[in-house]
Amino acid sequence: MFKKILKITMVLITAGALGGCQSSISSPDGSFSVIGGGNDSSATDSSTESSSESPVEGSTESSSESSVSEPAEPTATPINTEPDYEWDKVIALTFDDGPNIETTNEVLDVLEKHQVVASFFLIGNNITDDSAKSVKRAYDLGCEINNHSKSHGYMDKMTAEEIIEEYSYVDDKVFEITGEHTKFFRPPYIAVGDLMWENIDVPFISGLGCNDWDPNVTVEQRVKIITRSAQDGAIILMHDAQGNSQTVEAIDQIIPALKEQGYKFTTVSGLFEAKGITPVTKMIYSNAAQQGMWG
Ligand SMILES: [Zn+2]
Repeated sequence: MFKKILKITMVLITAGALGGCQSSISSPDGSFSVIGGGNDSSATDSSTESSSESPVEGSTESSSESSVSEPAEPTATPINTEPDYEWDKVIALTFDDGPNIETTNEVLDVLEKHQVVASFFLIGNNITDDSAKSVKRAYDLGCEINNHSKSHGYMDKMTAEEIIEEYSYVDDKVFEITGEHTKFFRPPYIAVGDLMWENIDVPFISGLGCNDWDPNVTVEQRVKIITRSAQDGAIILMHDAQGNSQTVEAIDQIIPALKEQGYKFTTVSGLFEAKGITPVTKMIYSNAAQQGMWG
């Protein structure tokens, strides 16, 4: 029996979140290229980071001589957070603009530490042989891998062919890595148009954000905004873009704080499942239980 039925009030609150992915509620978009988001459309700038840090999972040297302290770090033991209809309060953390080997892995470390899963919305141009390992690790942990377009452009200005290419490029890559297709789409800048609705055949996702693409938003502010705006059924929108260490720090506080409030964490799919709702196309969800197209 699905005890929770539709809270219409959520619809109002989520409206404030549409800024999520750099769509600028309050800030001059263009200057945040540090995080690889911003308005720069150059998701490629993450390549300026030196890759001096080897991926966490790659380094399993066999140092068998000192039997005492064995690293014993499984690369990706699945986190057990199967959605459950009995959950009273459920929420989905989501991360945009990855994958990369540094920040994505740091986010995964925090998720593992707290034993929660999340969902990742990937930019196709950020998927490399190396960053694909982060994607695989996330998937193996039980996280959901979703679609945030190939190039992170304004897709409401694109042709049907371009839109299809943007979507299917990521979908194909994710299928190569995980064996599963992407189930949800988050439009870059939350910009949508009719051609997008017509040519992308999965539900669209927005979310409650905290402008965490802006380096001027402190860890404390990120924690405060998310923990205060959290709601049952909500999708939280953050970014694992290269270098966004403030969000890594923030989620290390947000997760226990929300647990304290009684929340269970699941993927976007798990959120709909837990609420007994089948997501539909031509909708952009910030909450699994919302009724209007935009929430
Ligand atoms: Zn984005």
